Amino acid sequence: MPVIFEKSVPGRRGVRLPESDVPVSTRTDALYARSTELDLCELSELDVVRHFTDLSRKNYGVDTNFYPLGSCTMKYNPKVCEEIARLDGFTLLHPLLPQLRRGGLLTQGALAVVYELEQLLCEITGMDAFTLQPLAGAHGELTGMMLVAAYQKHKNNKKSEILIPDEAHGTNPSSAATAGYSVRVVPTSRKTGAIDFPALESMMGEQTAALMLTNPNTLGIFISDIEKISALARAHDCLMYYDGANLNAVLGRFRPGDALFDIVHVNLHKTFGTPHGGGGPGSGPVGVKQHLEKFLPISRVIKRDDNTYALNYDYRDSIGYVAPFYGNFAVCLKAYAYILSLGAEGLRRVSANAVLNANYILHSLKEAYHAPYPDGCMHECVLSAKSQAKEGVRAVDIAKALIDEGFHPPTIYFPIIVKEALMIEPTETENKETLDSFIEAMIRIAGKAETCPEKLHAAPLSTPVGRLNETKAARDMDLCYRGSGKVC
Ligand SMILES: *Cc1c(COP(=O)(O)O)cnc(C)c1O
Repeated sequence: MPVIFEKSVPGRRGVRLPESDVPVSTRTDALYARSTELDLCELSELDVVRHFTDLSRKNYGVDTNFYPLGSCTMKYNPKVCEEIARLDGFTLLHPLLPQLRRGGLLTQGALAVVYELEQLLCEITGMDAFTLQPLAGAHGELTGMMLVAAYQKHKNNKKSEILIPDEAHGTNPSSAATAGYSVRVVPTSRKTGAIDFPALESMMGEQTAALMLTNPNTLGIFISDIEKISALARAHDCLMYYDGANLNAVLGRFRPGDALFDIVHVNLHKTFGTPHGGGGPGSGPVGVKQHLEKFLPISRVIKRDDNTYALNYDYRDSIGYVAPFYGNFAVCLKAYAYILSLGAEGLRRVSANAVLNANYILHSLKEAYHAPYPDGCMHECVLSAKSQAKEGVRAVDIAKALIDEGFHPPTIYFPIIVKEALMIEPTETENKETLDSFIEAMIRIAGKAETCPEKLHAAPLSTPVGRLNETKAARDMDLCYRGSGKVC
């Protein structure tokens, strides 16, 4: 497909501006003055509209089709939440407007949203206090690890290590390491798919500052002996950290706070239906139990006796700022609208449908693909292309073939403990017809892997570009266009 510069025709115009009646400045610093004409493309308004509409149609998103990217929770985001986040009363606010007196009329509503969303998240997760500042899940983890460090320092505990299971999301070890800890990896039981308790018991000691767990974990398995694990951690003054990226599996059914987790982060952009992908925006609020509340980042929103809200900076033991102002406020606003519009019963139905949909996919595909944990799953299931790999068809080939079938591929090669992993998260927002057509496509691809494997190596054939060298694209970035020699 030609780029817009290739469509340019000299003299063609969308808008004709009147002759400039402003005198040309002669004082412009010669160093910065242009010596040549600006080489812009010349197109009519219609050419431009068609060009960009065409491009937008090549975009794939939740609004166009099924997006089963495991761990990412690419679910449909209700448009009403967007409308609410777009209200002038919110978008026109400046973060430095006064909280009280005259300006307070403008900011009290936004402060109330922050305060009430914190309260709702406390109720949903069973924690005592929240901060909305972290800007993503990974940022929430880093904030959590800084809280661990503050707590252990406060108690004069010399602890250097964080324990993390081998199925964990890559951000877990990187957050722990960024906060200055060394990371030790705990194995997962091959039989149950949950953390190996005897191994954990032998690894935990006086040096352990915290244990980071995702529950259900990235295999889509719920770790059920969590109370035994919490008791073990307590005995070593090791804090329990809950990575809440998978909270959509347990909404209204399991609260990490009840299972003695000390710190949690939730991904508002995953569980609470706000658009994400392409690098943002996200929001990763962090919740803590009472014994850690005093370390939370400032500023914090408090509710006064007269029912007004104010920012409070007066926390001596706070870890300080982790983000400018109050986090990704618009994302928080969408999550707030989402939670209120669904209500307690709606949130319970989210987790019921997320789990039902994933089990339907697991059950329907476990003959065509190897299923390392075939008995059931939570909100996502992990399959493996290891039988297909014997014929030379790998997980990546299946992912690319799915593109030709009109679907976004699932997550592949993660979690890393499953060979040729295909990690599928259908989310609760999809209907049975969509799931069925995805299942049929997956079964068709498994059939092709047996009869004509070479065809799958060529996929995708339906896209403007085929297989790209992703590593080279990231490490050796070259964004210059040289197609017609016109632009660079
Ligand atoms: C997505 C995810 C994260 C990281 O969240 P970001 O918002 O992408 O930084 C951490 N843990 C798990 C299990 C995840 O799925």
